[in-house]
Amino acid sequence: MTMTPLPISLEFFPPKTPEGVIKLAGVREQLYALKPQFCSVTYGAGGSTQDGTLAAVRAILAEGREAAPHFSCIGAERASVRATLAQFRADGIRRIVALRGDLPSGYGGFGEFRYASDLVAFIRAETGDHFHVEVAAYPEMHPQARSPRDDLAAYLAKVKAGASSSITQMFFNSDAYFRFVDEAHALGADIPVVPGIMPITNASNIIRFADACGAEIPRWMRLRLQGFGDDVESIKAFGLDVITDLCDQLRTAGVPGLHFYTMNQSGPVLEICRRLGL
Ligand code: FAD
Repeated sequence: MTMTPLPISLEFFPPKTPEGVIKLAGVREQLYALKPQFCSVTYGAGGSTQDGTLAAVRAILAEGREAAPHFSCIGAERASVRATLAQFRADGIRRIVALRGDLPSGYGGFGEFRYASDLVAFIRAETGDHFHVEVAAYPEMHPQARSPRDDLAAYLAKVKAGASSSITQMFFNSDAYFRFVDEAHALGADIPVVPGIMPITNASNIIRFADACGAEIPRWMRLRLQGFGDDVESIKAFGLDVITDLCDQLRTAGVPGLHFYTMNQSGPVLEICRRLGL
């Protein structure tokens, strides 16, 4: 039986040093073996990584791949967003991950955009259908939302404003994802919801990230991760097993793709995809 290939996308963050830039180019070269549909590059809210994000996106485009800058609107003015969109167009960018972002400490106000839905509406008003606009989705609710119902309404607002597809926050419990997709569809939000997959390579980091973004680590997983202590090899082996199982479940259920948070490393994503036969 031949299976339709599952679209894969890859997320990177902009390196801070010239050595990091060279290292990331090598990581990307290895990961291109997966034939990613696109590669995205994160953006520091408030514009803190704007140059690094654009430089990484340009490098990916120059390598003949589709590249998508993340772009957050918190603290931004309409004029600067308009100028950035014009720059993206001039660079040949056709896809954007449109976000609100989080206000960096010491930042004054929200600026002229309150929510990601405002940014999506602005992108559509200014540039029509030029960009494929990705937005964030939260199967376990965004940590600042008042309730799952309110958060779903916020998601729906992004879809109505013109989002083309969404990428989820990382999760380790596929039921939360399936329920989110069902509820969003029932409300008429029928854009693809691509699961965001975070490989596990370090116990304390994954626990910290998950706690910060409101992703539940099931008790059985957390206990094992904590129980490995400093045994890095066991943590990596366990991480590969559970994340491969999660991807396999999602694939079997017919998800529209997998978006990997690579953390600028090729090894874990390549191994997960090898085990999945992708
Ligand atoms: P929104 O969709 O605007 O939601 C933010 C909050 O406001 C939610 O609680 C929502 O329920 C609420 N809300 C929205 N609309 C309304 C409304 N009309 N009324 C009342 N409440 C409302 N951060 C970065 O800084 N850089 C990145 O590159 C980055 N990439 C990401 C990629 C993905 C795939 C994901 C899932 C997240 C990413 N983030 C990134 C994190 C993101 O910026 C934060 O989670 C941020 O807090 C919310 O951004 P958002 O676009 O989801 O905001």
